[in-house]
Amino acid sequence: MLDKTPNGLAEINQVFGSIDDPNFENKYIRAFPMPYALLYNGQTVVHARCHYLLIDNFTQVFQEIQKRGLCDQVKNYGGIYQVRKERGSTTKPSVHCWAIAIDLEEDKYPLGSTARFSDDIVQIFKDAGFAYGGDFVHRLDPMHWQFCTGY
Ligand SMILES: [Zn+2]
Repeated sequence: MLDKTPNGLAEINQVFGSIDDPNFENKYIRAFPMPYALLYNGQTVVHARCHYLLIDNFTQVFQEIQKRGLCDQVKNYGGIYQVRKERGSTTKPSVHCWAIAIDLEEDKYPLGSTARFSDDIVQIFKDAGFAYGGDFVHRLDPMHWQFCTGY
C-alpha cells in the first residue's frame, strides 16, 4: 500500500510514471476485484482498473466501507482510468489519466456542488491517502477523490 501522497506534477510523474509514455496503460494499469459490487450506468461492476501501485489503497477503501456497513452511501461508480482532459479544460490532463482518481455517486455530488459525502466516507478515503474533491479550493468536485495534491 502506497502511504505517501505525491504533491504536484513532478512528484506524480516520479511516482506513477509519465502519461506521455505510449506504453503507460500496459505498464501501469491493472484490474482488481472490487470488495463489493458497484453499479456503472446500471451495470454491475465487480472489477475496476487502476494504477497498480494503488490497488491496495482502493481495496482498503471499499473493504472499510463494507466493514462499517456504509455501502448504501457508495453504490454508483463513475470511473477511475479515463484518458481525458480535466473537466472544463482543453489542455490540462485529468488525474484520471494516471488512474489515481475515482468518481463516485456523480448524480448526488455533481461538479461544483456543495453537497458532500458523509464524514465517515471522507475519513475512510483520507486514511488511505486520498484527497477529496469536495475540499478543493478552486472548484468543488465532491464526486472525486485523488491520490495526489497540488495538481
Ligand atoms: Zn474525477
